[in-house]
Amino acid sequence: MGKRNKRRRKRVSKDDVRKNAKKGGGGGSWFILPDGVEEWAPEKKGKYRIDVVPYEVTDSDHPDEVEEGSIWYKRMFVVHHNIGPENKSIVCPRSVKKKCPVHEERDRISSDNDDGDSDDIIKKLKGQTYCAMNILDPEDSDRIKVFCMSTGKFWSCDAGLKTELLEADDENLSFYDTEGGKTLKVRFSDDSFAGHAFIKATKVEFEDRDDMNEDKTLAKTVNLDEFLNVLPYEKLKTMFLQEEGDDDSEDKPKKNKKEKKKDKGKKLEKADPPKKEKKGKGKKKKCPGGGKFGRDFEKFDECDECPHWDACEEAHDD
Ligand SMILES: [Zn+2]
Repeated sequence: MGKRNKRRRKRVSKDDVRKNAKKGGGGGSWFILPDGVEEWAPEKKGKYRIDVVPYEVTDSDHPDEVEEGSIWYKRMFVVHHNIGPENKSIVCPRSVKKKCPVHEERDRISSDNDDGDSDDIIKKLKGQTYCAMNILDPEDSDRIKVFCMSTGKFWSCDAGLKTELLEADDENLSFYDTEGGKTLKVRFSDDSFAGHAFIKATKVEFEDRDDMNEDKTLAKTVNLDEFLNVLPYEKLKTMFLQEEGDDDSEDKPKKNKKEKKKDKGKKLEKADPPKKEKKGKGKKKKCPGGGKFGRDFEKFDECDECPHWDACEEAHDD
């Protein structure tokens, strides 16, 4: 019972789902944010003034090797896209030093890739790195928002923040600090890759800003060491292997390792969309609680571990 309530609390508003989809997500929320804190990202090209503010590091093994108890400004994490039949985007558990079934599969394929046949799939399974920071809400500087973008669009691109920091004057290196901080003046421009349009930072400048009350600011900022919504290993594994599992029962002759490996690659490239369509819509999903899929949403204890939870909720809402 308690578990079910907990899951309810983590449900995000329809608005947040839309924002997340816009960002290229398509899955559940990547973050567990305190009440009143929302995500922010530039929606279109233009110049933006971004005030990055710090949080206090609580991770004794922070990926940036920042000492626990320091104030710091960012947390990188990895997202795996196109996971499971619903093509979800999921935070990689390795982002918080936990076991990741997707990376385990990648390691398995890599160890057997002498011919280079699996280079594409290995690259895909690596995931995409994102950078999250606390910023002052551009609409209301008394409030905090979380600014998150893939590193290739804001951090490590040609004129991204990393590049600027490498060349910046010493005084700009405390841009995120409550004292001697700087407002980032960022220009975002249109770009595209493989037919997909997006915006990315093409200029970052530093501008003096007023000092802030450190205690007050830190009381409001999100602890980026604890805000990632990481799915339990088994749930992610089930989601990730769902297609492969379904397939094995359909294909009569046992495939050898290499064929299987290639199949997996094909699937991730979505080379087989009609089949996927059929699977999602035609085949009725079985309710492990003995109820009816899409009708008896959240009615059983089994719902907590059900692989069709998201799909059932969606069908239930319809
Ligand atoms: Zn991973």
